[in-house]
Amino acid sequence: MIEIAKEQCKSCAFCVEFCPRKVLKIGEESNQKGYQFAYMAESEKCVSCGICAIVCPDAAISLYK
Ligand code: SF4
Ligand code: SF4
Repeated sequence: MIEIAKEQCKSCAFCVEFCPRKVLKIGEESNQKGYQFAYMAESEKCVSCGICAIVCPDAAISLYK
């Protein structure tokens, strides 16, 4: 599974674009810096490939077992 540190997210949407399973979306809510953050919209589709964590320029995504 992955975890998204919402306060580190800057809403660039790279993870949304690069996820091969289209798991992620940018939500309506904003973090304390005013950025709408990414979340797992369809977590059941995630295959834990780690691509989202690699492409995130702000290291907001981590993989865990
Ligand atoms: S780990 Fe892979 S499948 Fe899961 S959300 Fe990230 S890019 Fe998508
Ligand atoms: S790639 Fe990182 S900073 Fe960009 S939207 Fe996704 S979680 Fe946020």
